[in-house]
Parts: sequence; structure tokens; C-alpha cells
Amino acid sequence: MIKRQTTINRIFKVSGIGLHTGREVTLEFLPRREFGIAFVHNGRTIAARYDKVADTRLSTQVAEDGASVATIEHLMAAFYFSGITNCLVYIDGPEVPIMDGSAWEFYQEVWRAGVYEFPDSGVYLKVLRPVEVRHNDAYVKVKPLNTLDITMSIEFRAPVGKQKKQVTDVENAFAIINSRTFVLHEEIEAIRKAGLAKGGSLDNAVVIGGDAIVNPHGLRYKKELVNHKILDLIGDLYTCGFRFLGRVEAHKTGHYLNNLLLKEIFSDPANYAIY
Ligand SMILES: [Zn+2]
Repeated sequence: MIKRQTTINRIFKVSGIGLHTGREVTLEFLPRREFGIAFVHNGRTIAARYDKVADTRLSTQVAEDGASVATIEHLMAAFYFSGITNCLVYIDGPEVPIMDGSAWEFYQEVWRAGVYEFPDSGVYLKVLRPVEVRHNDAYVKVKPLNTLDITMSIEFRAPVGKQKKQVTDVENAFAIINSRTFVLHEEIEAIRKAGLAKGGSLDNAVVIGGDAIVNPHGLRYKKELVNHKILDLIGDLYTCGFRFLGRVEAHKTGHYLNNLLLKEIFSDPANYAIY
């Protein structure tokens, strides 16, 4: 477990295609003394924080002062796994590139740059009381715990079906980092008609066909899809601004509910402690 604030050891850049815009985007990562992760787009600084989340329909988007950055969740998860608490990310487009559909490439780049530790603590948010949010049969709830423990269940049509997974040692759950995003084949047309997913391909998403995985090499893990939902949740939880401590149980959750959980936690200072 990391104990102190950290940043990256050197400046580096990562380029890739935006999933929804289909345009090439370059990210430039800069070390930061100030606490927290923030984006700089069109000269505006946007905190990667739950109270700046403006859209949760297909990804988590943050916005401030008329500037916005979408699809931040996989990058946020990469920062979580690499133990980075402070970083400034300059971005020359409206969306973080999708890379291979997971957090793997961002995680590797941060790891190569190395981690610089500051003396300051105050990096953890511990949940002190049970908090729960629901929407129809989907929910995400959290109870007090001294580590981060996540149980996730999903339910889709065959061949995905029901999948459930518990991760007790999230900081070292490496199979989560490179589990890719996924889409049902029949959803692709509607998403494309809405002008989205222009950059989507078998190189950056798992596509679930009528009765099988369409990607020629199949899945990276038997539970890759539920793993990816855990990855999204970790990225979204990291927008609380701290490393999250609690026992999280989620069923069919998504970016909207994940954000609502954080808003609910922060609505009452008795729900949490920072240390
Ligand atoms: Zn995702």
C-alpha cells in the first residue's frame, strides 16, 4: 500500500485513437506537486473528480469552464494501479484515447516513467458508514473496511450470461488492468448512428456476437468482461480524489451509479474520513 502522495518521475507522451471521435489524440503527462489528477484541455484545468463529472452515458466525462474530457476511467484506473496520486495530463482532444480497450498501455507508460514520492500523506478515503445507491435492479453499495475489496456481478444475454468476481487485494489484481472493454454486436449500429464509437474496432474492444466472441483471439481471461467492469469501477472510484477503502458490492453497475455513490458518500461528512 502506498502511504504518501506521489507523482511521475519524468514527462512522457502517449498517443492513440479516441473511441467515440475516431481522432488521434496525444496526452502529455507532467509531474505535479499539487494533490490530485487533473487534465488540461484548451487552456483549462479540469480536476478528474466526481463533482466535475458531466456525462456518464458511455464513459465518464469531466467538464469545467466549458472544456471537457471524456473516457477518463481506464486512465484513472491506471493511475490507481501505479500508485500515482498527483499528475497533470495535457490533452489535445476531447477524449482520452482508447488504446487496447484496457488500462494496460497507460499503466506500462507510468511504470516506465517511475514514481516520485512526496512526504505528504492524506491519500486515502475510508468509508465509515454503509452507503448504497440503486437504479432498477442495478446497485452499488459500500461498507467500512481497511482495504479495498470489490465484488462485481454482471448479467448479459448468452454467451456472456451471469458472471461474478470478488477481488480482495485490488492493488495487486493485475488481471484487472489489461481486461478490455466490450460491446454487444447488436448495439454497435445504434451507437454508430448516434455518431459515436467512430474509432471502435476489434483492436480496442471485445465484440460479443450472436453466440460467440467475434475477436479472432477470443478473450484474454475467462472472466475478462466482469474484470473490465471492475476496472471501470476502480477508475470511477478514483475520481473521489483519494485511494478508496471499503468493501464494495456492485451488480450491473455503470458510470452513472458509480458517480452517484461518490456523491452520496460526500453528501455527509460522517460517511468518510481522509488520512
Ligand atoms: Zn471501460
